[in-house]
Parts: sequence; C-alpha cells; structure tokens
Amino acid sequence: MVKLAEWRGKELFRKYGMSLPRGRVVRSADEAKAVTESGEVPLPCVVKAQVLAGGRGKGGAVRFASTPAEAAEAARAILDMEFKGEKVKELLLEEKLAIGRELYVALTLDRSARLPLLMASPQGGVEIETVPDDQIVRIWVHPFAGLSGWQKRRVIKFLGLTGGPAKTMDTLLEQLWRTFHLEDGELAEINPLAIVGDRIVALDAKVIIEDDASFRHPEYADIRDDRTPLEEIAREEGIAFVQLDGNIGVIANGAGLTMATLDALQQFGGRPGVFLDLGGTDDPAKVTQAFLLMAKARPAAVFLNVFGGVTRCDTVAKGLVEAMKQVPANERFPLIARIRGNNETEGIAILREAGVISMRELEESAKAAVAAGNGGAR
Ligand code: GDP
Ligand code: MN
Repeated sequence: MVKLAEWRGKELFRKYGMSLPRGRVVRSADEAKAVTESGEVPLPCVVKAQVLAGGRGKGGAVRFASTPAEAAEAARAILDMEFKGEKVKELLLEEKLAIGRELYVALTLDRSARLPLLMASPQGGVEIETVPDDQIVRIWVHPFAGLSGWQKRRVIKFLGLTGGPAKTMDTLLEQLWRTFHLEDGELAEINPLAIVGDRIVALDAKVIIEDDASFRHPEYADIRDDRTPLEEIAREEGIAFVQLDGNIGVIANGAGLTMATLDALQQFGGRPGVFLDLGGTDDPAKVTQAFLLMAKARPAAVFLNVFGGVTRCDTVAKGLVEAMKQVPANERFPLIARIRGNNETEGIAILREAGVISMRELEESAKAAVAAGNGGAR
C-alpha cells in the first residue's frame, strides 16, 4: 500500500480539477518565512506537518500563523516534532480560509461487498469513527459505471446542500470518483471538505494507492514504504517473502501452512526471521530464486515445511538441491526439511542424499530447526 502525504494527495485532486487552498511544500523555517513574505502563500496561513499519521490537528502538528515570523516559528516547532514516531521533514503551508461548514467525503474499497464505497457526512473535521452512524451516508458504486446521477443527488441531499453548493458538490463528487478510480485508489478521503463562500474546498487529503496497481505508478517508486530491500526484490519477482526479527528462515507452501509453521517454531522457543511462501509453485527456477533470496537474509537455519499436493515433493526437493548448490559458500545454512504428500518418499530420498536433515513429523522437525537456529546464531 502506498500512502500519500497530504500534498501529494492534493496534487492528484488538483489534476482532476478540485478546488484547493493556495499552498506550497517547504522544508525549513527560513523557507516558510520566505514564501509567506513573497506572498506565494497568502497570510494568514496554515502550517501542516506532512506525515502519514492522522490527528495532526489535535496533536499540534497543524498551526496557524498571521505573519512571516509566526510562520517561521510554527514551521520550526513542527519540524522539531516527532509525530507518532515519524520525523517531520516536510511542511505544507497554505492560505487559511474562512470555513463555513466542514463536511466529510471519502471513497474506499469495501472488501466484503467487493465494491467501491462512497461515504459522506455533514459532520466533517472530526474522526469519522466518532461520527454517529445515522450521520453517515453509504453508497456502493459500480466500478465500471461510476457514480450515477441519483447517487450523487442522494449524497447532496444528505449533506443538506441546495442551489449553487449542490451543483459544486455534484462536480466535486465526480472529481473524487475520477481520482479514486483512475489513480487506482484504495482510499481517497477529504476531511474536512470545507464550504468557503460559494466554493467547496478540500482542506485535507488522505489518498492510498492500491498495492497491486503499483506497477502502473512508477512515480511512487521512491516512497513505497515499509518494505526491506529484500522484500522489494521479492515483490518484483512475485515471491511472497516477509522479513521478521528472528534468525530462523521458513519456507512453506500456502498461507495456512506457512503460519502454522511460524507458530510451531515459536512454540518450541524459536524465532522466525524470514518466511517465504512458495504458494502453488514447484517451478524449479522460481524455487531457486526464492531460495537464493532466503540465503541473502542470512538465517542461522532454515526450516522447510512443504505439503506436496499439486506441487510434488520430488520436484520441490530437486529444485531445492539445485538451489542449494548455487548459494555462495559464505551464505550457506543448515536446512531442516519436512515434506509430506505426493511422492514424499522420493522427495525425502533426494534431500537426504544431498545432506539435508529430513523428518516426517512437525514437532520433531520444528524442534530440530530451533536447535539448529540456536546453535548457529549470527
Ligand atoms: P488532521 O487533523 O491530520 O486530519 O489534519 P487536517 O488537515 O484535517 O487539519 C486539522 C484541522 O485544521 C481541520 O479540521 C481544520 O479545522 C483546520 N484547518 C485546516 N486548514 C484550515 C484552513 O484553511 N482554515 C481554517 N479555519 N482551519 C483549517
Ligand atoms: Mn483531516
């Protein structure tokens, strides 16, 4: 998931024609002073931390200033903050608008309905979780058809808008839908959406881009978050690979068996360090690739727990033995294997011949992996 900072979200909104406050991103107090002095950001202004966590208003990460000196001071104060564990590196300075009413609108993915969901409330500017349910309207949107006229009218009526503002809101809803849909959004939220005279202005922006669509968005390559370099490579190769804190590597197939394997290691005092889900593959090239990636994580030992269903035990075993040969000498590790299922006898024979400790039962093999992990801690 790619979470966009407010200013990036607003840039997307602007691309689809939405009305936004005039503003600029700055990185220092001096810059804050300069852009307010020059009038590039009109005064009074709002100084906002560009962090991914919400609740900045309450947390002192949104401040107001009426002079360049005050803007500089606010900028300095916010840049010194660590907001919910995140260092503040960028600020958004914007003209302060006279807000009439604060509304809430958002498009999100309802995974249980498997449809985009439009939510709106006349009570904006507060966390949506605290808004009573009868103050929120929910409309499920057909992903191909988009927002229909009646759906927009229902939202507009619920928000209590008539006349000019109703018309403006109709356009805004369309723009929000286009942003969400055309930019592969998982979430596009505006809170607050402010009525300012005859304008409706997005004062905040929270946009999340769908991870599965990230290949369509090279523009976010540098901000794709919370993946380690190895996880990043794995993602590009289409391998399910996650790094944890421990020192034992896990290779399993299927999410269920993978989780059960992690639990078993934990239960016997081991600490899983990285896990790799082979899924339904026994493609030797893929197995080799995955195995080499596992080696790069430098586990003290690796526990392989594979059930041969569609993937046959002997094919997996062959792939593994091939892969082991390619691991550089300084990255080798003890391998404890438990493979069950189709052609397991053949598979076990192949592994044993290659010097792999191969066992049949989960408990004994997990214990052996924990012992190997403790013996060879790095
Ligand atoms: P959040 O708390 O992280 O969601 O940050 P917001 O961007 O929503 O800002 C917090 C609050 O600051 C908003 O709910 C507004 O009440 C206020 N705010 C932000 N921009 C303006 C503005 O231009 N004018 C006024 N009067 N208030 C603003
Ligand atoms: Mn907000």
